[in-house]
Amino acid sequence: MRHGAPESEIQRVVAVIKDMGYDARVMPGAQRTAVGLVGNDGRVDASRLEGLPGVQEVIQVTKPYKQVSREWKADSTVIRLASGVTIGGNDVSVIAGPCSVESERQILDAARQVREAGASILRGGAWKPRSSPYSFQGLGKVGLKLLAKARQETGLLICTEAMDPEGVGWVAEVADIVQIGARNMQNFSLLKAAGRAKKPVLLKRGMAATIEELLLSAEYILAEGNPDVVLCERGVRGFDTTTRNLFDITAIPVVHKLSHLPIIADPSHGTGLREKVIPMARAAVAAGADGLMVEMHPNPDAALSDGAQSLAPEQFTQLMREIRAIAEVIGRRVAEPAPVEA
Ligand code: PEP
Ligand code: MN
Repeated sequence: MRHGAPESEIQRVVAVIKDMGYDARVMPGAQRTAVGLVGNDGRVDASRLEGLPGVQEVIQVTKPYKQVSREWKADSTVIRLASGVTIGGNDVSVIAGPCSVESERQILDAARQVREAGASILRGGAWKPRSSPYSFQGLGKVGLKLLAKARQETGLLICTEAMDPEGVGWVAEVADIVQIGARNMQNFSLLKAAGRAKKPVLLKRGMAATIEELLLSAEYILAEGNPDVVLCERGVRGFDTTTRNLFDITAIPVVHKLSHLPIIADPSHGTGLREKVIPMARAAVAAGADGLMVEMHPNPDAALSDGAQSLAPEQFTQLMREIRAIAEVIGRRVAEPAPVEA
């Protein structure tokens, strides 16, 4: 719409789109309001829209994904979480904690340690997608309760994974961010359930997924009505076995160009090797990541999952110190944890 187009003109456009048999999404922006048309699987005859009062231009989104594209929405999405924490603005937000929630003692210690070092969001899986059925599968609902306790004690927000549509309901009740793991990036019923959840979603790139597939998976979530999606680069399968995955830092600027959604980086799964996490975290922040997801365990050698890539508390403190310096060079700031609620 033209800058300053009145509400009546916007509503007229909405009405015409609906009359054409599609759905309309009104998106106020910094410069002007855009009205998105959804529900078409091909080119739309825009002649009825072009002449309406207040319409400045009709843009055909050329990509297979629509609502996640920069063509659809030019302004970067800033996701506002509880306690004033944001992802996607100027802040670099850090999600840190163990791979899995193992015990009350372990998750509370981890929460205090990551908060002390300056992370604002606590991670920890209650349900774990493991390659082997004999590996630790997570504490399930007990794990969720422990995460809720950790939030209460530290004020940290919570990010934890849901593995199936039913689990989305349980996780969304407790967590501030619902994580969808790499192995589930194309679990379409899970994506739709996450799209109906009332919580932001962290969507990790599948280990063999192209960036276009990642964006199409995010589109499923937006198409169900949930606009708050954070993408996560966590490495893809390469031919070289030196590292667990091939950490694709290029994905960060590529996604920023193609999409308005924030993208964070996970150098823990991205490398699989503890001593490679800090250099790759620095690189991801330098490349413009909107945040990091990092595994830290109070005692990594005793971890029930992903110990080899988990930082010890003092290493995590060093990582935070170093990324603060890098963020400053590129005009950003590492988000501070919210104060503990009284
Ligand atoms: C995790 O975050 O612990 C995890 C299982 O990650 P990914 O889905 O990226 O493998
Ligand atoms: Mn893990």
